[in-house]
Amino acid sequence: MTKGIVADIERSSLHDGPGIRTVVFLKGCPLRCEWCHNPECIKKEPQTLFYSEKCIGCGKCEEGCFSGAKIICGKEMTTDEVMKMVLLDKSYYAEDGGLTISGGEPLMQGEFTLSLAKAAKEHGIHTAIETSLALYDSEVLSSFDLIMFDLKLPDDERHRKYTGIDAKIVKDNILKCSELGIPMLARTPVVIGVNADAETISEISDFLKKVPNVYKYELLPYHPLGTVKQKALGISVRKFEIPTKSLMEELNNYAFIR
Ligand code: SF4
Ligand code: SF4
Repeated sequence: MTKGIVADIERSSLHDGPGIRTVVFLKGCPLRCEWCHNPECIKKEPQTLFYSEKCIGCGKCEEGCFSGAKIICGKEMTTDEVMKMVLLDKSYYAEDGGLTISGGEPLMQGEFTLSLAKAAKEHGIHTAIETSLALYDSEVLSSFDLIMFDLKLPDDERHRKYTGIDAKIVKDNILKCSELGIPMLARTPVVIGVNADAETISEISDFLKKVPNVYKYELLPYHPLGTVKQKALGISVRKFEIPTKSLMEELNNYAFIR
Protein backbone atom coordinates (compact mmCIF):
# COMPACT_ATOMS: atom_id res chain seq x y z
CA MET A 1 0.00 0.00 0.00
CA THR A 2 1.56 3.30 -1.09
CA LYS A 3 1.79 5.89 1.68
CA GLY A 4 2.78 9.53 1.81
CA ILE A 5 3.01 12.47 4.18
CA VAL A 6 0.03 14.76 3.65
CA ALA A 7 0.08 18.36 4.96
CA ASP A 8 -3.58 19.10 4.27
CA ILE A 9 -6.55 18.25 2.07
CA GLU A 10 -8.59 21.23 0.92
CA ARG A 11 -12.07 20.60 -0.40
CA SER A 12 -13.99 22.74 -2.91
CA SER A 13 -11.02 24.87 -3.96
CA LEU A 14 -11.54 27.32 -6.84
CA HIS A 15 -7.90 28.45 -7.03
CA ASP A 16 -5.84 25.37 -7.83
CA GLY A 17 -6.81 24.50 -11.38
CA PRO A 18 -10.00 24.52 -13.47
CA GLY A 19 -13.42 24.12 -11.85
CA ILE A 20 -14.07 22.92 -8.33
CA ARG A 21 -11.21 20.81 -7.02
CA THR A 22 -10.00 18.79 -4.08
CA VAL A 23 -6.39 19.76 -3.36
CA VAL A 24 -4.00 17.39 -1.62
CA PHE A 25 -0.98 19.26 -0.23
CA LEU A 26 2.06 17.04 0.23
CA LYS A 27 5.01 17.73 2.54
CA GLY A 28 8.53 18.32 1.24
CA CYS A 29 10.03 20.93 -1.10
CA PRO A 30 13.62 21.34 -2.38
CA LEU A 31 13.19 25.13 -2.84
CA ARG A 32 13.39 27.91 -0.27
CA CYS A 33 11.39 30.76 -1.81
CA GLU A 34 11.70 33.81 0.43
CA TRP A 35 7.97 34.60 0.03
CA CYS A 36 6.84 30.96 0.53
CA HIS A 37 3.06 30.80 0.95
CA ASN A 38 3.14 27.21 2.27
CA PRO A 39 6.14 27.13 4.66
CA GLU A 40 4.56 24.23 6.57
CA CYS A 41 5.05 22.11 3.43
CA ILE A 42 8.82 22.62 3.06
CA LYS A 43 9.99 19.96 5.54
CA LYS A 44 8.87 16.42 4.84
CA GLU A 45 8.56 15.51 8.51
CA PRO A 46 5.44 16.39 10.54
CA GLN A 47 5.72 19.78 12.31
CA THR A 48 3.84 21.67 15.01
CA LEU A 49 2.36 25.08 14.27
CA PHE A 50 1.62 27.17 17.36
CA TYR A 51 -0.74 30.14 17.02
CA SER A 52 -0.08 31.90 20.33
CA GLU A 53 -3.02 34.32 19.95
CA LYS A 54 -5.44 31.36 20.01
CA CYS A 55 -3.94 29.71 23.10
CA ILE A 56 -6.21 29.98 26.16
CA GLY A 57 -3.57 28.49 28.48
CA CYS A 58 -5.71 25.48 29.46
CA GLY A 59 -2.61 23.30 29.91
CA LYS A 60 -4.24 20.31 28.18
CA CYS A 61 -1.80 20.10 25.26
CA GLU A 62 -1.19 16.40 25.93
CA GLU A 63 -4.85 15.62 25.24
CA GLY A 64 -4.88 17.58 21.97
CA CYS A 65 -5.62 21.27 21.46
CA PHE A 66 -9.28 22.14 20.95
CA SER A 67 -8.77 25.89 20.48
CA GLY A 68 -6.79 25.53 17.24
CA ALA A 69 -3.65 27.02 18.83
CA LYS A 70 -1.49 23.92 18.35
CA ILE A 71 -1.77 22.08 15.05
CA ILE A 72 0.31 19.16 13.82
CA CYS A 73 0.98 19.46 10.09
CA GLY A 74 1.92 16.20 8.38
CA LYS A 75 0.05 12.92 8.55
CA GLU A 76 0.98 9.63 6.99
CA MET A 77 -1.88 8.49 4.77
CA THR A 78 -2.39 5.67 2.28
CA THR A 79 -3.61 6.24 -1.27
CA ASP A 80 -6.96 4.66 -0.31
CA GLU A 81 -7.39 6.98 2.69
CA VAL A 82 -6.78 10.06 0.54
CA MET A 83 -9.05 8.75 -2.25
CA LYS A 84 -11.86 8.14 0.25
CA MET A 85 -11.86 11.90 0.95
CA VAL A 86 -11.47 12.84 -2.71
CA LEU A 87 -14.45 10.69 -3.72
CA LEU A 88 -16.69 12.54 -1.24
CA ASP A 89 -16.32 15.57 -3.54
CA LYS A 90 -16.60 13.82 -6.90
CA SER A 91 -20.21 14.90 -7.49
CA TYR A 92 -19.17 18.59 -7.29
CA TYR A 93 -16.46 18.41 -9.96
CA ALA A 94 -18.82 18.70 -12.97
CA GLU A 95 -16.99 18.73 -16.33
CA ASP A 96 -13.80 20.61 -15.53
CA GLY A 97 -13.10 20.07 -11.80
CA GLY A 98 -11.12 17.26 -10.21
CA LEU A 99 -8.11 16.44 -8.07
CA THR A 100 -5.01 18.63 -7.73
CA ILE A 101 -1.83 17.38 -6.08
CA SER A 102 0.12 20.30 -4.65
CA GLY A 103 2.67 21.02 -1.94
CA GLY A 104 5.43 21.66 -1.21
CA GLU A 105 6.70 19.84 -4.24
CA PRO A 106 4.68 16.70 -5.09
CA LEU A 107 7.63 15.20 -7.00
CA MET A 108 9.47 14.89 -3.64
CA GLN A 109 6.95 12.08 -2.97
CA GLY A 110 6.89 10.77 -6.54
CA GLU A 111 5.64 7.25 -5.85
CA PHE A 112 2.72 8.49 -3.73
CA THR A 113 1.86 11.26 -6.23
CA LEU A 114 1.84 8.71 -9.06
CA SER A 115 -0.40 6.34 -7.13
CA LEU A 116 -2.90 9.14 -6.35
CA ALA A 117 -3.00 10.22 -10.01
CA LYS A 118 -3.56 6.62 -11.14
CA ALA A 119 -6.28 6.03 -8.53
CA ALA A 120 -8.09 9.24 -9.55
CA LYS A 121 -7.92 8.21 -13.22
CA GLU A 122 -9.49 4.84 -12.36
CA HIS A 123 -12.46 6.82 -10.98
CA GLY A 124 -12.63 9.03 -14.09
CA ILE A 125 -11.44 12.13 -12.17
CA HIS A 126 -9.50 14.91 -13.93
CA THR A 127 -6.01 15.26 -12.42
CA ALA A 128 -3.71 18.27 -12.12
CA ILE A 129 -0.32 18.74 -10.47
CA GLU A 130 1.09 21.98 -9.06
CA THR A 131 4.86 21.69 -9.30
CA SER A 132 7.88 23.99 -9.09
CA LEU A 133 9.59 21.81 -11.75
CA ALA A 134 12.71 22.01 -9.61
CA LEU A 135 12.58 18.23 -10.04
CA TYR A 136 11.58 16.13 -13.04
CA ASP A 137 10.00 12.69 -13.31
CA SER A 138 8.46 11.86 -16.68
CA GLU A 139 6.50 8.86 -15.37
CA VAL A 140 4.82 10.89 -12.62
CA LEU A 141 4.24 14.04 -14.68
CA SER A 142 2.81 12.14 -17.65
CA SER A 143 0.17 10.55 -15.40
CA PHE A 144 -1.60 13.95 -15.06
CA ASP A 145 -4.11 15.70 -17.34
CA LEU A 146 -2.74 19.16 -16.53
CA ILE A 147 0.64 20.42 -15.32
CA MET A 148 0.65 23.76 -13.48
CA PHE A 149 4.12 25.13 -12.81
CA ASP A 150 5.91 28.33 -11.79
CA LEU A 151 8.71 30.23 -13.42
CA LYS A 152 9.59 32.74 -10.74
CA LEU A 153 12.61 34.50 -12.26
CA PRO A 154 14.31 34.28 -15.66
CA ASP A 155 18.01 34.35 -14.66
CA ASP A 156 20.20 32.04 -12.59
CA GLU A 157 21.58 34.67 -10.24
CA ARG A 158 18.29 36.03 -8.89
CA HIS A 159 16.56 32.64 -9.02
CA ARG A 160 19.37 31.17 -6.88
CA LYS A 161 19.29 34.13 -4.51
CA TYR A 162 15.53 33.98 -3.89
CA THR A 163 14.75 30.23 -4.20
CA GLY A 164 18.05 28.39 -3.67
CA ILE A 165 18.49 26.92 -7.17
CA ASP A 166 19.36 28.16 -10.68
CA ALA A 167 16.61 29.13 -13.12
CA LYS A 168 18.33 26.86 -15.69
CA ILE A 169 17.24 23.74 -13.77
CA VAL A 170 13.59 24.83 -13.90
CA LYS A 171 13.77 26.03 -17.52
CA ASP A 172 15.35 22.75 -18.69
CA ASN A 173 12.61 20.82 -16.88
CA ILE A 174 9.92 23.03 -18.47
CA LEU A 175 11.29 22.18 -21.94
CA LYS A 176 11.48 18.44 -21.12
CA CYS A 177 7.97 18.57 -19.70
CA SER A 178 6.62 20.13 -22.88
CA GLU A 179 7.70 17.00 -24.78
CA LEU A 180 5.21 14.94 -22.74
CA GLY A 181 2.37 16.52 -24.75
CA ILE A 182 0.29 17.46 -21.68
CA PRO A 183 -1.32 20.92 -21.37
CA MET A 184 0.85 23.20 -19.23
CA LEU A 185 -0.29 26.26 -17.30
CA ALA A 186 2.56 28.63 -16.33
CA ARG A 187 2.43 31.08 -13.44
CA THR A 188 4.64 33.62 -11.75
CA PRO A 189 4.06 34.82 -8.19
CA VAL A 190 4.58 38.60 -8.42
CA VAL A 191 6.75 39.73 -5.50
CA ILE A 192 7.79 43.36 -5.09
CA GLY A 193 11.57 43.74 -4.86
CA VAL A 194 12.05 40.32 -6.52
CA ASN A 195 10.37 40.18 -9.95
CA ALA A 196 7.59 42.81 -10.03
CA ASP A 197 8.88 44.81 -13.00
CA ALA A 198 8.02 44.80 -16.69
CA GLU A 199 11.51 43.78 -17.82
CA THR A 200 11.60 40.65 -15.65
CA ILE A 201 8.04 39.54 -16.42
CA SER A 202 8.45 40.15 -20.16
CA GLU A 203 11.64 38.04 -20.14
CA ILE A 204 9.78 35.18 -18.45
CA SER A 205 6.88 35.59 -20.88
CA ASP A 206 9.20 35.53 -23.91
CA PHE A 207 10.73 32.25 -22.71
CA LEU A 208 7.31 30.67 -22.08
CA LYS A 209 5.97 31.70 -25.49
CA LYS A 210 8.59 29.41 -27.02
CA VAL A 211 7.37 26.38 -25.02
CA PRO A 212 4.83 24.66 -27.32
CA ASN A 213 2.62 23.08 -24.65
CA VAL A 214 2.17 26.17 -22.46
CA TYR A 215 -1.39 27.25 -23.31
CA LYS A 216 -1.62 29.98 -20.69
CA TYR A 217 0.67 32.23 -18.63
CA GLU A 218 -0.82 33.98 -15.60
CA LEU A 219 0.49 36.21 -12.83
CA LEU A 220 -0.43 35.73 -9.19
CA PRO A 221 0.02 38.62 -6.74
CA TYR A 222 2.08 37.85 -3.62
CA HIS A 223 -0.11 37.05 -0.60
CA PRO A 224 1.23 37.43 2.96
CA LEU A 225 -0.65 34.37 4.34
CA GLY A 226 2.65 32.48 4.53
CA THR A 227 4.01 34.91 7.13
CA VAL A 228 1.33 33.89 9.66
CA LYS A 229 2.36 30.26 9.20
CA GLN A 230 6.08 31.16 9.36
CA LYS A 231 5.46 32.77 12.75
CA ALA A 232 3.48 29.73 13.93
CA LEU A 233 6.39 27.48 12.87
CA GLY A 234 8.85 29.66 14.78
CA ILE A 235 10.92 30.43 11.69
CA SER A 236 12.05 33.87 10.58
CA VAL A 237 9.31 35.91 8.93
CA ARG A 238 9.94 37.88 5.73
CA LYS A 239 7.03 40.07 4.70
CA PHE A 240 6.80 41.67 1.24
CA GLU A 241 4.57 44.48 0.06
CA ILE A 242 1.34 43.40 -1.66
CA PRO A 243 1.36 44.41 -5.37
CA THR A 244 -1.22 47.08 -6.21
CA LYS A 245 -4.06 46.51 -8.67
CA SER A 246 -2.50 48.98 -11.13
CA LEU A 247 0.89 47.22 -10.99
CA MET A 248 -0.80 43.86 -11.65
CA GLU A 249 -2.72 45.39 -14.58
CA GLU A 250 0.53 46.71 -16.06
CA LEU A 251 2.33 43.38 -15.66
CA ASN A 252 -0.67 41.42 -16.95
CA ASN A 253 0.13 42.83 -20.40
CA TYR A 254 2.75 40.06 -20.55
CA ALA A 255 0.37 37.25 -19.54
CA PHE A 256 -1.12 35.27 -22.42
CA ILE A 257 -3.59 32.60 -23.46
CA ARG A 258 -3.34 30.74 -26.77
S1 SF4 B 1 8.16 26.07 -4.32
FE1 SF4 B 1 6.29 26.62 -3.17
S2 SF4 B 1 6.35 25.37 -1.30
FE2 SF4 B 1 8.42 25.33 -2.19
S3 SF4 B 1 9.51 26.99 -1.13
FE3 SF4 B 1 8.67 27.84 -3.07
S4 SF4 B 1 6.68 28.71 -2.49
FE4 SF4 B 1 7.32 27.34 -0.82
S1 SF4 C 1 -4.16 22.81 24.56
FE1 SF4 C 1 -4.05 24.52 23.09
S2 SF4 C 1 -5.05 26.21 24.15
FE2 SF4 C 1 -4.55 24.69 25.73
S3 SF4 C 1 -2.51 25.31 26.48
FE3 SF4 C 1 -2.17 23.81 24.85
S4 SF4 C 1 -1.88 25.09 23.04
FE4 SF4 C 1 -2.85 26.39 24.56
